Amino acid sequence: MDLKGKIDIFEDYPIEGISFKDINSLIADGEAFQYVVNQFYDIAKTMDANLVGIPESRGYIFGSPLAYKLGLGLVPIRKPNKLPGEVHSRTYDLEYGTNTVEIQSKAIKPGDRVILIDDLLATGGTIHAAAKLVEELGGEVVGMLFLIELTGLKGREHLKGYEVDSLVTYEF
Ligand code: AMP
Repeated sequence: MDLKGKIDIFEDYPIEGISFKDINSLIADGEAFQYVVNQFYDIAKTMDANLVGIPESRGYIFGSPLAYKLGLGLVPIRKPNKLPGEVHSRTYDLEYGTNTVEIQSKAIKPGDRVILIDDLLATGGTIHAAAKLVEELGGEVVGMLFLIELTGLKGREHLKGYEVDSLVTYEF
C-alpha cells in the first residue's frame, strides 16, 4: 500500500522550517489504518513483549490496537501532571522546543519486556526518554516501532542498541 500517499505534509507547521507529517488523513482511511496496525503486528509478534508503551498522544493511536492484537497491556507515557500517584519523569529536547514525559512508577515491574510505539521518529528524544523511564523501573525495551522515520534527523543514532523499525521514511 502507498502509505506516503495517505500522509499529508504541511510545510512550516507548527513553526517555520518544520515539514509536518499529518497522519490524520491516513487514520481516517479504515483500510490504511488496518494495514498499518497489521504491519506493526507482523514486526512485534516475535518480540516476546508483555507490555506496549504509548507516548501521548499519537502513540495511543497505533499502540492501542497493536496491544489488543498481541493480547498485551498498555502503559501510557504522558505529559506532566496527568498521571496520579508516584511518577518518574524526564525532560528532553524536541525537534522544536523541549518536553517532559512521565510514567507511573507502578506501571513497570523488573523484567517487563516493553515495546514502545509512536507515530513518528524525528530526533528520537521522545522515545529515548520513554525508554529511560522504562529502564529506570527495571523494564527492558525490546523494540521501538514508528509509522514514520525522518532519517535526516538521525534519531536512530540516538537509539543505538535498540531494535528500531519504521514503515515509511522521509529525509526531513
Ligand atoms: P522526536 O522526539 O524528535 O523524535 O519527536 C517525536 C514526536 O514529535 C513525534 O511523536 C511526533 O508526534 C512529533 N513530531 C516531531 N517532528 C514532527 C514532524 N516533522 N511532523 C509531525 N510530527 C512531528
